[in-house]
Amino acid sequence: MTGIIFLGAPGVGKGTQAAILAEELGIPAISTGAIFRSNIEQGTELGKLAEGYMSRGELVPDSVTNSMVDARLSSDDVQEGFLLDGYPRNLDQAHKLRDMLAEKGLTVDVVIEIDAPEDVLVAHMLKRAGEESRADDTPEVFARRLEEYRLRTAPIASYYSDQDLVVTVDGVGTIEEVAQRVLDGVKQARV
Ligand code: AMP
Repeated sequence: MTGIIFLGAPGVGKGTQAAILAEELGIPAISTGAIFRSNIEQGTELGKLAEGYMSRGELVPDSVTNSMVDARLSSDDVQEGFLLDGYPRNLDQAHKLRDMLAEKGLTVDVVIEIDAPEDVLVAHMLKRAGEESRADDTPEVFARRLEEYRLRTAPIASYYSDQDLVVTVDGVGTIEEVAQRVLDGVKQARV
């Protein structure tokens, strides 16, 4: 069982790297952003709840997000391991995750923090805006997402550092280069 959390600012390439690593390890990548987007596409109640927050670049309320993750982590396919991409996003979510995992007999084994300077994040976002037309990939909304990350998400790196779980990976480079660093980081943490 390998429990992995991906941390990193919006635009750092978390989703791409999470998909590559999850495939390599044969574990599910659980992206809260992707689950919200698919609910919005399908017009579900959850999608309707999340849509306004997402379009403004704000975090969806914890109560909504936590129960969605709790349900996902109750599936059988996480028993072999899981990779969380985009959750937790603040300290309350991190604490809630600790309780959920304890209840299910699961653990976090490594937190991969992908790091890149702001100009690289913005360049990635602009590239993705051209490819995927995400509603929140506009300069204004992206600025808000970055601010949310700095205010609420960045502090959880020290929560996990205190538990000696964090491996920081340089996110500047090709997808393949970063993927190799991520894999090395996971191996390093397992030693
Ligand atoms: P992402 O795909 O991870 O960039 O997430 C896109 C958007 O989904 C975020 O800007 C938030 O509005 C929402 N979201 C994703 N994950 C979370 C989370 N853990 N907590 C609250 N909102 C989230």
